[in-house]
Amino acid sequence: MSLPLIYDLSQSQLKSLLVELGEPEFRFQQVWHGLYRNFWNSPDEFSNLPTILQRKLSELINFHVLDPKATLHSSDGETIKIAFTLHDSLIIETVLMKYDPTEITDGSEPGHFSKSRRTICISSQVGCAMGCVFCATGQMGFRRNLSRGEIIAQLMYFARFLKKQGDVVTNVVIMGMGEPFHNYENTMEAIDCLNDPNGYNFGARRFTISSVGIIPSIKRFISEKRQVNLSISLHAADDSLRSSMLPINKKYGIDALLEACREYTLESGRRITFEWALVNGINDSADQAYLLSHKLKKILCHVNAIPLNPVEGYRGRATTNSRAKEFKNILVKAGVPCTIRLRRGTDIQAGCGQLAGIFE
Ligand code: SAH
Ligand code: SF4
Repeated sequence: MSLPLIYDLSQSQLKSLLVELGEPEFRFQQVWHGLYRNFWNSPDEFSNLPTILQRKLSELINFHVLDPKATLHSSDGETIKIAFTLHDSLIIETVLMKYDPTEITDGSEPGHFSKSRRTICISSQVGCAMGCVFCATGQMGFRRNLSRGEIIAQLMYFARFLKKQGDVVTNVVIMGMGEPFHNYENTMEAIDCLNDPNGYNFGARRFTISSVGIIPSIKRFISEKRQVNLSISLHAADDSLRSSMLPINKKYGIDALLEACREYTLESGRRITFEWALVNGINDSADQAYLLSHKLKKILCHVNAIPLNPVEGYRGRATTNSRAKEFKNILVKAGVPCTIRLRRGTDIQAGCGQLAGIFE
């Protein structure tokens, strides 16, 4: 039987394990802080523990959660993508995107951040069952859910990586491979663990979950009242076009989805983001923009539009700059905030061609 992954252990599970090993109570904090404050990821780094305990831990727990298989740096050096091998040889991707305070983000306007950002884009599943036609992960099909520990490990890896450079992770977007609301429990457990003040203490508001729009999960998310940001992949403003791009729309249509989104904004008081990959001649028309602005009128929201990242196996192409601008102008004139995002790290196929600085 394979050993449990270190980050799969909850605080109470780790506590009981140490008690079973006959350790005094204070050991728990030493191990937990070693993991989540110092980002140690191998037993021999725990210099605060007796060697014999280090050895026992290495026999009982797998500390080697992610094995970096390939690291790609974008030509501007600002985006790093790592393909990790998991314990069962499957592969996921995690991306680090660096943004400087005065960076131009959309090609036309300066996007001023008050502080620089180090955003990690993490995966929630290996593959995805949702089958969106323009998505490289969707084309892979579904392999399996990531465990909470495998989700946590992606952030810990980059926290450690940046710490060596005297830097820190500032934001996390769950918009790598997979649909987080199709792996709801593990995703939330990972967020709650990373958010815990006794550990990493990473603020809930610094997380953004991106979902294709599974309505029952959105309702559950609303009821659980976390301060995490929500983003919905909309991509089309009418059911027939959206169903042709995102098959899940046949089950959860646009109007019901937008109603759930509105409920989220009312209950949480938070703005919701809608993502829109602009595909030339498909969803970048003025008609779509007018229909969208009409449908979003009563929702506290923001539209993040990004030219499609072309992927193999999908014939769509990215929109042109002028069509993107026209699309945006229609929304903005109608009072719906919209930003056209630059594609980040396209030379390294950041996030299976999915991701992007969609969030910055
Ligand atoms: N499953 C979740 C999160 C992962 S996908 C979701 O769908 O929201 C992250 C984002 O990348 C989504 O908005 C998705 O629609 C978008 N995306 C996928 N493939 C893309 C592509 N080829 N070009 C641009 N955006 C893409
Ligand atoms: Fe899955 Fe999101 Fe890709 Fe759709 S866009 S297939 S939901 S990862």
